[in-house]
Formats: sequence, C-alpha cells, structure tokens
Amino acid sequence: VLNDPYNPDNVFAKILRNEIPCKRIAEDAYSLAFYDAFPKAATHVLVIPKKPYVSFNDFATQATPEEIVSLTKMIQQVAEQLNLNTSGYRILSNAGKDAHQEVPHFHVHICGGEPLGPLLCK
Ligand code: AMP
Repeated sequence: VLNDPYNPDNVFAKILRNEIPCKRIAEDAYSLAFYDAFPKAATHVLVIPKKPYVSFNDFATQATPEEIVSLTKMIQQVAEQLNLNTSGYRILSNAGKDAHQEVPHFHVHICGGEPLGPLLCK
C-alpha cells in the first residue's frame, strides 16, 4: 500500500465521486472531512485530500503546499468544531501493511469525545 499505484476503486475515491454517501463535516477545494462509518471512539472523523494519494508517504512527498496546509488546518478546524479542543483528541494515519491501512487513499483519523486509553493495541 505504502507506495503502490493509486487504485480508484477504493471506498474514499467513491465518496469523492459521490458514488457512495458520507456524513460530511467540512470541505474545501483540497480536502474533505466526514464521519467514520464504523467509529472506534465516541467521536471518529476522517480527513482526506481530494487528490489521489495512497498514503501519508505519497501525500508528504507529492502533495502541493496548498494541499498540505488545507489538510492540516482542516484537522484543527474540525477538532474545534466538534468541541475536542478542551477535552483533547488523537490524530493518526495508518500507512502500509504493518499499520493495517485498509483504505488505500491517504486519510487522517481524528478520535476523541472520551478517554482513548493507550496509544497502541497489538
Ligand atoms: P484504515 O484502517 O486506517 O485504512 O482506516 C479506514 C477507515 O475507514 C476505518 O476506520 C473504517 O471504519 C473507515 N471506513 C470504511 N468504509 C467507510 C465508509 N464508507 N465511510 C466512512 N468510513 C469508512
């Protein structure tokens, strides 16, 4: 996954083409934030770039500064909008096989709304 060619059949590509629905929270020219359909925390949101990047690796090396700023700022704005700024939140991105990345379109998870426990479960 980490450096694979982009597969346009992935579920987030379908969301971006409006082929399947999502619960949208924020959107701009470069990025989209929506609720995770199978939440692992009281609040669980995904923030994705609109362009086809496979993983964080791909995004960090190939995205434009505007795309990187948009995604970064959208994460903060969504956290503020969902009132996570005082209670706290966790952001993470699974990249590749060891991290169990399931959807091969780069995404950042925002989790919060309750105590989240330790960082990793193996
Ligand atoms: P990852 O394992 O980091 O690739 O995370 C993929 C995430 O996408 C998981 O948390 C899934 O619950 C979530 N997911 C899968 N399908 C959908 C969907 N149709 N809409 C929203 N989130 C989804």
